[in-house]
Amino acid sequence: MKKYAKFISLLLAVMMFAGVFAGCGGGSNTTSTEPSAPASTEPETTSTEPVSADFTTITEGVLTMSTNAEFPPYEMTDDNGDYIGIDVEVAKAIADKLGLTLQINDMGFDAAITACQNGASDIVMAGLTVSPDREAIINFSNTYAKGVQVVIVTEDSDIASIDDLEGKKIGTQMGTTGYIYCSDTPENGGYGEENVTGYDSGITAVQALINGQVDAVVIDNEPAKVFVQENPGLKILDTEFANEDYAIGVTKSNTALLDAINTALTELMNDGTFQSIVDKYITAE
Ligand code: GLN
Repeated sequence: MKKYAKFISLLLAVMMFAGVFAGCGGGSNTTSTEPSAPASTEPETTSTEPVSADFTTITEGVLTMSTNAEFPPYEMTDDNGDYIGIDVEVAKAIADKLGLTLQINDMGFDAAITACQNGASDIVMAGLTVSPDREAIINFSNTYAKGVQVVIVTEDSDIASIDDLEGKKIGTQMGTTGYIYCSDTPENGGYGEENVTGYDSGITAVQALINGQVDAVVIDNEPAKVFVQENPGLKILDTEFANEDYAIGVTKSNTALLDAINTALTELMNDGTFQSIVDKYITAE
């Protein structure tokens, strides 16, 4: 008898247990049918939907970007030492679209390109101008901005146009297109290597101008505007030195990542995200 009682209570317990689950299942089924309709449409509109899963990155789940965070308003640090700027926010938006976390590695400008070339970073974003020499060592995404090489001089300078740069001391940032153009031979439109100094950063070149060590600085227009605004007594010449395109550098072998980045970038441009990031940092004139 005792045995049966035990068996029956066990049976009852099993039935109750199953019942609880059936109840739960039934309950959740009935309640979930209605909200499931809007819930299921959500992933199609969310920006975190991966663009493509067919790519690899050097660290799984992470998009590693090398940069030189001394190039406002594209990449710089805020008062807390956090990375901000157009490139930083665009990279973050791309990483989100690809389902990746963004990792920023800050280094010298040349080193940032080399890191991408060697596969120490997945991408380089640094207000980076597309050029044939660079295309030989890294791939470039679709272009996302125009850059203009401009000339900064002191307000009292006798340099009025790029023709007046001949024989003058020119400061640039090492490794940049500004350095490359200016240090070229006069036959190729440059001013000769002996007349050009490459500094570690654009702001160091600008400080050399303020201190009278150079007569002019050749640098990209957007950082030029920031540096001139922050340092009274300087001006930007009206004449443009060169027009360029900025793009994201991607390690040459990683064409799948390049494709995914281009898809993400196009989406960010089409849905207005890209422009809203630019508008945060550059006020239209
Ligand atoms: N656009 C220039 C270049 O690519 C400068 C970029 C920079 O100084 N970050 O060379």
